[in-house]
Amino acid sequence: MPAKRVLILGGTAEARQLADALSQEPAFAVITSLAGRTSEPSLPESEIRIGGFGGVEGMSRYLADERIELVVDATHPFAAVISRSAFEACKASGVCSLHLVRPAWVRQPGDAWTVVPDIEAAAQALQTGQRAFLTTGSSGLQPFADRASDIHFIARMIESPNEALPEGFQIVRARPPFSLQDESAFLRDHAIDVLVTKNAGGTSTYAKIEAARHLSLPVIIVDRPKDVPDADADTVEAMLDLMRAHAG
Ligand code: NAP
Repeated sequence: MPAKRVLILGGTAEARQLADALSQEPAFAVITSLAGRTSEPSLPESEIRIGGFGGVEGMSRYLADERIELVVDATHPFAAVISRSAFEACKASGVCSLHLVRPAWVRQPGDAWTVVPDIEAAAQALQTGQRAFLTTGSSGLQPFADRASDIHFIARMIESPNEALPEGFQIVRARPPFSLQDESAFLRDHAIDVLVTKNAGGTSTYAKIEAARHLSLPVIIVDRPKDVPDADADTVEAMLDLMRAHAG
C-alpha cells in the first residue's frame, strides 16, 4: 500500500515529536509546515515547508497540489487563525483533518489566578505601579503599550519583537524549557509583582506558574481562544494511535 500523505501543521514540540515518530513508520509520508516566525526553529528530521499558505484558498490549493490525504493540526493552542483555516480548507477539499491540542493548565490550590478572555483584558487587569512579567510572546505586546507609563514590563520571548516598544519595556530573550528553580530566581531577582501569561498548557513553560504559586504571586492568565475546531487528541501518543487506525 502506498504511504499516506500527511501534512502536519507545526510550530510546537508536539508537532516535531509527531513528525519524528511518523518518520519511523513506512505507512506515512509526512510534510511539516511552519509559519516561519522563529529564526532557529527546532526542526523534525523529515520534510518541511515554511511560510503561510495564503488563507483557506491557498491551503486548499496546496492540499490538491501535494495530494495530501490527511492534515494534522498540531499548532499552538493560541494559533487560532491557522486552525480555523485548516479546518475550512480540509472541509472544502474533502481531506480528513485531525486536531492535536495539549491540555490547558488547571488552577491548583495556592494559585492566585485572574482568568481573562484576551490580551487586551490582561493589560486592563494590571494595577498601577506593578512590575509585570509578560510571557505572552513577541506578537502579544502591543496591547500593553498604553500601560507602559504606569507599569514596568519585563517581557520574555524567543525572538526580539518586530515592532518598536515604548520606553519602560525590558526584553529578556530565552528559549524554553525553564526549570522551577530558574523561574523562582527570575521572579525574585526582578522583583516581579504579577505574572501575565497565556494558558499554553504543556510542561516546558509550566514552571513559572509553579514558581508564582510558591511565591504567592498573582497570575493574570489569558484563556484559550474559543472558536477553534474541537480537539481529537491531547497527546502525541493518542494522535499516533488515531492516525494508525486511520491508515489501517
Ligand atoms: P495564527 O495567528 O493562527 O496564524 C496566522 C497566519 O500564519 C495563518 O493565517 C497562516 O498564514 C500562518 N501560519 C500559522 N501557522 C502556520 C503553519 N504551521 N504553517 C504555515 N503557515 C502558518 O498563528 P500564530 O499564533 O501567529 O502562530 C504562528 C506559528 O507559531 C504556529 O505554527 C504556531 O504553532 C506557533 N506558535 C504560536 C504560539 C502562540 O502563542 N500563538 C506559541 C508558540 C508557537 P496563511 O493564512 O497565509 O496560511
